[in-house]
Amino acid sequence: MVGARMLEWLKFRLWQGRGKGAETRVLPIPCSHVLQEISNYIEQDIDAELRARMEQHFRQCAHCLAVLEGTQNVVRLIGDGEVFEVPAGFSERLQQRLAARIANDQ
Ligand SMILES: [Zn+2]
Repeated sequence: MVGARMLEWLKFRLWQGRGKGAETRVLPIPCSHVLQEISNYIEQDIDAELRARMEQHFRQCAHCLAVLEGTQNVVRLIGDGEVFEVPAGFSERLQQRLAARIANDQ
């Protein structure tokens, strides 16, 4: 029983490895680099190689994808010339919340 399971596991690993090999034609890129280049990515102000690396990263990283989508929304709003007012006290509350969070982290 154990042998059969082991074989299944090995097959799975081989299959995984093959998938990975196909994708690593593009070098991986760290989150910090992706976040740094995100506005250039949206403005299409990066070279094809970096673009491919970022696109691959977005497929694998939900966090960066969420930041990308959020940033695209903001860019769209600014592009449309829409001005929206932040509710009174919003930024103070946000600052307090951030300060409390930072204090908790320390
Ligand atoms: Zn990421």
